[in-house]
Amino acid sequence: MHYSYSSLSTGGVDQHNRCLGNRAWCVKDICGIVCVIMTWLLILFAEFVVCGLILLPSYRNYSLFSSINMFIFQALAFLAFVSHLRTMLSDPGAVPRGNATKEMIEQMGYREGQMFYKCPKCCSIKPDRAHHCSVCQRCIRKMDHHCPWVNNCVGENNQKYFVLFTFYIASISVHTLFLVMTQFAECVRGDWRTCSTYSPPTTIFLLLFLTFEGLMFGIFTIIMLLSQLNAILNDQTGIEQLKKEEARWAKKSRLKSIQSVFGRFSLAWFSPFTEPSCRHKFSTHFYSV
Ligand SMILES: [Zn+2]
Ligand SMILES: [Zn+2]
Repeated sequence: MHYSYSSLSTGGVDQHNRCLGNRAWCVKDICGIVCVIMTWLLILFAEFVVCGLILLPSYRNYSLFSSINMFIFQALAFLAFVSHLRTMLSDPGAVPRGNATKEMIEQMGYREGQMFYKCPKCCSIKPDRAHHCSVCQRCIRKMDHHCPWVNNCVGENNQKYFVLFTFYIASISVHTLFLVMTQFAECVRGDWRTCSTYSPPTTIFLLLFLTFEGLMFGIFTIIMLLSQLNAILNDQTGIEQLKKEEARWAKKSRLKSIQSVFGRFSLAWFSPFTEPSCRHKFSTHFYSV
């Protein structure tokens, strides 16, 4: 038996983890906020070195190589940034707090003696596959994990944006490593004093740091992206895999599982601006247990 949220509304909007006049979801966790600022600073550093040292120095003639690579780099950086913002500011699928009251339970149609899960920490009736996150202090539907780099849980409602974030950061890392290699090759072939507007030691330091950043970000996000895709294809969240939970839910086919995260296939799959159009019908419903 399924019950929609609308029929369970307790009236009034819960302002917990909310900001921007209740429009956005914001987790007030200092560690997460520091990680988010570090992520933005690292993207800005890559912007500075790639644009200022590799692609735009004044001595470099306007070239097709620079223009194409500038377009690719800026497009990836923009899409990664928007995906990051949307992952961070989207409600990941929080279950209303304090809805495990006698009236609510009756309203939901539970019969005397019928079993259901109640979260003792946020006093909510736990839908199937929801887990409590101690950072968000809420139960999150289909919680995969809490990621400090996006200062939010990855759950049913924002997994698409998180996957896109890892995809675009992985892509920009590979692209950056390619650009750094071409710059190194140019400097080694020519003269270190003329291949950059900065002094040779500064140039080497900036390029080495960018290589290190590209490798770290690249390896980390590729592993993350693959584990997310694996979890989606197998219809099993990171937590469920970690806890080796037996699937109590009817496992969806791979196609249905992908569609429940990204919607029907279209170019919108790659856009962090569009919400998945056809969420799986049951995803916003409670399950009786
Ligand atoms: Zn809870
Ligand atoms: Zn969380």
